[in-house]
Amino acid sequence: MDVNLELAGLLNDMAFLAGESQRGWGYKRAAKAVLRLDRHITPLVEANTFKSVPGIGPTTDRIARELLQDGTSTLVEKAVREAAKEEEIAKLHALRQHFLSHAAVRDILSRRGSPSRTKYRGDFQMHSIWSDGAEPLESIVDACLARGHVCSGITDHSYGLAVAGGMTMAQVAQQHAAIDALNAQYKGRFRLFKGIEANIRQDGTVDMEPHELRQFEFVVASPHSLLRKSVDQTERMAGAVSQRGVCILGHPQGRRYNVRPGVRANWDQVFAIAARRQVAIELDGSWDRQDVHYALAARALELGCIFALDSDAHAHPELDFIDIAIAHARLAGIPQQRIINYWSNDRFLEWAARSWDR
Ligand SMILES: [Zn+2]
Repeated sequence: MDVNLELAGLLNDMAFLAGESQRGWGYKRAAKAVLRLDRHITPLVEANTFKSVPGIGPTTDRIARELLQDGTSTLVEKAVREAAKEEEIAKLHALRQHFLSHAAVRDILSRRGSPSRTKYRGDFQMHSIWSDGAEPLESIVDACLARGHVCSGITDHSYGLAVAGGMTMAQVAQQHAAIDALNAQYKGRFRLFKGIEANIRQDGTVDMEPHELRQFEFVVASPHSLLRKSVDQTERMAGAVSQRGVCILGHPQGRRYNVRPGVRANWDQVFAIAARRQVAIELDGSWDRQDVHYALAARALELGCIFALDSDAHAHPELDFIDIAIAHARLAGIPQQRIINYWSNDRFLEWAARSWDR
């Protein structure tokens, strides 16, 4: 059991009951603090030091004690019952399934295992100042080198997603010139790949023309709309992985922790097509996405898929989200050779180019 994740869930239940108030804000802050803790709460609670963690108050401490002792919290249960919010709370629980707390990720990665952290070569989803990211390309290269990576794929948003500062094709040409210059400068030490995060439209096509997609070395296609609908979207997602030129299905569900469920689809059908066309299923490591999660990834593996473990970073500290993706991949039992982030540059490029012929 991921006890930190469980406790964060109970605190978010309390935050929901408290609504837009000082108390509600306090519980949200406590939930975040627990998710970010680098170790499990159990020894802290037992040693009576949990309360000294910033953001943790006496009520949180009490809920944690109840959880450790009984596997649940009578305080929270009583509050839910008295507010008659059982139904709403049950819906919220569904938005917190199959996530991992920071402590759980550390725990999983502290053991020997595969896929490896040290052999990870580079990350294939990240954003720069060319769309909605915070960092210029040269600084991203430095940050990746500092983490021991030897390549990375820049995937700023496409022009179809104006809210995320999507690039016009004129800006793409400028960005590509900048990438060429950096690759010349870092030759042999680091390779930046020219990628794009295209947006999957309602009808399953991506928001760019084929001749535009061909200007990139690889294409990530991701859903950014209709992520709260309960209608089945199998056709939309099947369309996306069927489209020529698409290499990676980015954050396939589009879910967000405690916020939205994301796309509902028959994932077996989508994964079967992705497996046949060798489109990589992404494990997006953003702490509030974790998409796809380990259980869904295990199913995709059974159906023959290959995978990408990416950070979806918009700023340097977020590059560490790959740890979360690697932890999910370990739980899913994905062999390292089925993950594109461990392939050589040549193998990666050859596979990406074949996305037009498959
Ligand atoms: Zn995205």
